[in-house]
Amino acid sequence: MQTMNLQSFDVIQYLEDRGIEYRLRGKNVSRGWVEINCLWCDDPSFHLGISPQKFLNCWRCGPKGSIINLICKIDKCSKPAAKEVLKQYSHLTDETLNIILNKQPQPQTKSLFPLPGRPGLHDQYRDYLIKRKFNPDFLEVYYQLRSGPIAGRYHHRIIIPIIQNQQPVSFLARSISDSLQPKYLASPSEQSLKPIKHCLYGIDEIKDEAVVVEGVTDVWRWGPGAVAVFG
Ligand SMILES: [Zn+2]
Repeated sequence: MQTMNLQSFDVIQYLEDRGIEYRLRGKNVSRGWVEINCLWCDDPSFHLGISPQKFLNCWRCGPKGSIINLICKIDKCSKPAAKEVLKQYSHLTDETLNIILNKQPQPQTKSLFPLPGRPGLHDQYRDYLIKRKFNPDFLEVYYQLRSGPIAGRYHHRIIIPIIQNQQPVSFLARSISDSLQPKYLASPSEQSLKPIKHCLYGIDEIKDEAVVVEGVTDVWRWGPGAVAVFG
């Protein structure tokens, strides 16, 4: 059976064939990110990360979608031509590629489950994430992180929706200040559509291969393709 993701795309070979300088992040190359100078912004130093699943994220100017967009930029070619390049470097069939490429990042969902807080990440939440070397733009788009409410139980907390089948079913609220404990508050089970312990965080970004990591922040670091259980 063919793997339904772009992990097999040999990005290093592709970059070397094009004479593009890259850097590796993480000890294990096959599991880590590849970084190059961003082609979308005025980036002097390797801010464009290519995730193991070949999603693009610039730590300065935000997510850039799939690897196809990068190939179009580098090879100055059309999308169909970029697809041929993808095929050449990943040994995937047309059919598999079509399935993979039709999977786009989910738009903001309409919710049956009311999430606390406010949509989007306001400055104090963005600053906190940036300090921890996360990209707030990426996390807003892929994981739909929200700002905490202006007062009450979840004040000064990032609201982390737990999304299953494109539907928020529960949430975690992460403190953005060391003095505010506990670090995480979970949505009360009686108010959740599904008990948090029965959820797999990040599952909506998985085709059929997943990496299981420790917690939600590890999922953010890894990007699409990683899941976390709630212990
Ligand atoms: Zn950029």
